[in-house]
Amino acid sequence: MPQANAIDIRDITKVFGQGAEAVHALDHVSLAIREGEFFTLLGPSGCGKTTLLRLLAGFEQPTAGVIGLYGDDLAGLPPFRRPVNTVFQNYALFPHMTVAGNVAFGLEMQRWRRGDIERRVEEVLSLVKLAGYGQRKPAQLSGGQQQRVALARALANRPKVLLLDEPLSALDLKLRKEMQIELKRLQVETGITFVFVTHDQEEALTMSDRLAVMQDGKVLQVGTPAEIYERPTRRFVADFIGDTNFLQGVLGRAANGEIQIKLDVGGMVTTRHAEAHTEGERVTLAVRPERVDLEPVNAEAGEDTGRLRGVVETVVYFGTDTSYRINIDSLPEPVLVRVQNRQGAASPFASGDSVRLRIPPEAVQVLVD
Ligand code: ATP
Repeated sequence: MPQANAIDIRDITKVFGQGAEAVHALDHVSLAIREGEFFTLLGPSGCGKTTLLRLLAGFEQPTAGVIGLYGDDLAGLPPFRRPVNTVFQNYALFPHMTVAGNVAFGLEMQRWRRGDIERRVEEVLSLVKLAGYGQRKPAQLSGGQQQRVALARALANRPKVLLLDEPLSALDLKLRKEMQIELKRLQVETGITFVFVTHDQEEALTMSDRLAVMQDGKVLQVGTPAEIYERPTRRFVADFIGDTNFLQGVLGRAANGEIQIKLDVGGMVTTRHAEAHTEGERVTLAVRPERVDLEPVNAEAGEDTGRLRGVVETVVYFGTDTSYRINIDSLPEPVLVRVQNRQGAASPFASGDSVRLRIPPEAVQVLVD
């Protein structure tokens, strides 16, 4: 069954300032966020993530374009009338109020009945695992606990959408990892649509149902974590998320569902995904280090498609895998290869060894630009 869209962002542009000073924070952004999904906006500082979140919250108005929430145009609707709450990086708790007072605040503003407020405050405090902390002041809590209070407050009036602007970046690494799991649990348990902003690639990959990768006010690619990681369409996306080798070549003809690519460094690889490209076109390929195999040069290799010769520059042991930098004649940068370690087995290759890199068709991703 198709999921309904919670949020429809259609051709949104946001310009701050005027004339020579104008900043295009968002440039024709379109996105559909589905009901009940954990959706992440991922990109480097200044790419427009926070601006997009602020437009959803109603703190800013778009210069052009339409934002729909469950089919309703949000234009002109002030923040407090939107079924949307925001959790900020700095928690933004009222320091003089108790935890319960902080969580109850929005419900009091919405004129909930006293008994309902008390019940709901207890319910959300236990949802974020802070039952019994109601009478403390924020200063008597750890950073992680304060962020839980902020979450409880944002969930209290049952918003349809929760916006989260780098909510974990003030926490130390261990706490951050714990809170990532906690946030994911909260999202699954409540079924609320989460729109989460981060510049941390790993966080985006591990937490999201789907994510949008942004750069310079534009959305470059939208997909599941696996789609974004395995099939990046742009050089920026491949480079921003994980390690990637880039190779240049010219597309040859397709046969048996595979397309040959003649590499500039010599040799040939094949791919199964190059739909948007034509024969003779120059292309850039992205190849993940862990998708490449290493073979000794004297191996029985058959025909040479998908194999390149190189010399091991460095070997680095990482416990679960070993990382190799391989120099290939005429390539300015070494190729990175990561091979899973087998228990008790030492690295079969050492610095200075001649090797062959085997690049299977599944490993080759042809980029759009
Ligand atoms: P960060 O991770 O650093 O918060 P971001 O991806 O959230 O970055 P935004 O804060 O959305 O990026 O900013 C996008 C661009 O818009 C930046 O160039 C920023 O300087 C600019 N910008 C944001 N708000 C304003 C404003 N109120 N006035 C002028 N320029 C702004």
